[in-house]
Amino acid sequence: MNFPGTLGELRHSPFSEQKLKTRRVKDELRDNLVVKLREGAPVFPGIVGYDDTVVPQIVNAILSRHNFILLGLRGQAKSRILRALTSLLDTETPYIAGCEIHDNPYSPICRRCRDLIAKCGDATAIAYLRPEERYVEKLATPDVTIADLIGDIDPIKAARGGHELGSELTVHYGLLPRANRGIFAINELPDLAGKIQVGLFNIMQEGDVQIKGYPIRLPLDVALVFSANPEDYTARGKIITPLKDRIGSEIRTHYPATVEEGIAITTQEAWIRRDGYRLHVPKYVQEVIERIAFAAREDKKIDKRSGVSQRLPISCVENVVSNAERRAIRHDETLVVPRIGDVYAAMPAITGKLELEYEGEMKGADHVGRELIRAAIVKTFDGFFKSTDMNQVVQWFDLGGEIQLADTASAVEALQSLRGIQGLMEKLVKLNVGPKDAAETQVSAAEFVLEGLHAHKRIGRNEERVFKAGEKPPKPVEKPFERDEPPFRSRRPFN
Ligand SMILES: [Zn+2]
Repeated sequence: MNFPGTLGELRHSPFSEQKLKTRRVKDELRDNLVVKLREGAPVFPGIVGYDDTVVPQIVNAILSRHNFILLGLRGQAKSRILRALTSLLDTETPYIAGCEIHDNPYSPICRRCRDLIAKCGDATAIAYLRPEERYVEKLATPDVTIADLIGDIDPIKAARGGHELGSELTVHYGLLPRANRGIFAINELPDLAGKIQVGLFNIMQEGDVQIKGYPIRLPLDVALVFSANPEDYTARGKIITPLKDRIGSEIRTHYPATVEEGIAITTQEAWIRRDGYRLHVPKYVQEVIERIAFAAREDKKIDKRSGVSQRLPISCVENVVSNAERRAIRHDETLVVPRIGDVYAAMPAITGKLELEYEGEMKGADHVGRELIRAAIVKTFDGFFKSTDMNQVVQWFDLGGEIQLADTASAVEALQSLRGIQGLMEKLVKLNVGPKDAAETQVSAAEFVLEGLHAHKRIGRNEERVFKAGEKPPKPVEKPFERDEPPFRSRRPFN
C-alpha cells in the first residue's frame, strides 16, 4: 500500500483529520483492544499463567485509559507484558516528517512543526511510524536527570539558530517527549529521584515543565506504564503522592501458580532444541528443575524481597540439556536424554540467581543449591512413586550393592550395571519406561529412582556419584527421665 506523502493527501485518506486529530494514544490502545476482545483473540499471546489474574486487570486498565503500574518481583514477565502493549498500537501512524517528537499532523505541539505547516501548508511532508518505534523504555536509576527524561536547553542549538535560550526551538528533547504519541515505560519507578518524579508529574498533569528555570510547554500524548518491586513501591516516601495518584491502576504480577504452568513458561523460553541430536527431556527432569524454583521461593535462606526469577529454571534446563549433550557427543549417542545427575551439574545456572539471606550465606550458595535440588527431587519422586514399595531396591544396597553413575557415563555402560539391581527396572513402568525403550531413556529413569531414594535418605551416595547403602540412623538411646526444672515450684507472692 502507498501511504499519503503530504498533509494534503493525508486529509483525503483513511487517516483523516476527523479520525486522527483528537485521537490520543490511550484511545488507540483501547480501540484496538476492543477489536481483539470482540474477535476472542488472546490479548497477549505467549504470556502464560496470567489469564485469570493479571491479564483481565490490564485489560480493564486499558479500557479505562489508565496509566498503570505492574508490581512484582523479578522474573515475572513485567517487561515482557509492557513490550507486548505495542501489539495494541496501529500498524502505521502518520507524523510530520522530521519531527523529533513525532507530531500529530493535525495538531502539532512543537514550534518547528507549527512554523513548517504555516509555511508549507498541505505540501508538508508526512512520514510513518511502526508500533515498535513508538515504544520507549527506561530503567530508572537514582542518577537519571531531568535532561535524560524530559530534555535540556541546548545553547549550541540556540546560537546556531539565533534563538533565545528558553525558546522551544532550543530544547534538546529527552526520552519522554521522544515517546510522544507512543508508550513510555519506566522500570523500577521508585528508583527515580523525587525531583524527577515531580517533573514527570507536571508533564502528565499540566503538560508543562521547567527546564533550567525556563518554563517549557509540552502537552504530550503518551501512555505511561511502569513497573516496580512491590516493597519499594509501597514504602513511604519512595513515590511522591501526586504521581501515585495519577497512576490509575496498580496490578500485581506473580510467579506461576502451579508447577505445570512453570514448566510451560520454561519450555517456551528456554533454548533447548539443538541441531544434530534428538532430544527427549523426561517429564520428571522438567518437574525437578521447575520445583527448584518453587522450593527456592519458599526457602527462608533466600531473600524474599528480590524473589526467585523464572530465569532460574530457564537457565537451568538449558544447562541440563548441555550437560546431557556433552555426554552424548563424547559417546557418539544420537539421542540426548537428560538425567538428574545433569541437574546437579547445572549448579552454575542456579546459584547465581539466588540472593541469600544471612543463614544461606553462612552455608554457602552451593550447599543451598544442593538442598533445593534435593527438596525438588523428593516432591517429584513422591508424585510418581508415593505408593510404590521400594524395599527390594533399598535392600540390594543394604546387602552391600554399589553402583557408580557418573554424569559422563555412557548409557549402554550404565544400563548394564543398573539391570543388576534387583527390582529396579520394573519400577520404571510408573514413568512409562520399559525394557524396549532406548538405553538413554532407561538409564535416566532408573537414575531418577536412585536419586529419589537418596533424596529420601534411604540409600547413600558419595561425591563420586557411587550409590550405596545409606547410613543407618543410630538406634535412639532411651533417655533417662529427667526434667529441666522441678515440676512444682512454690511461688512467693510479690509483696
Ligand atoms: Zn514537531
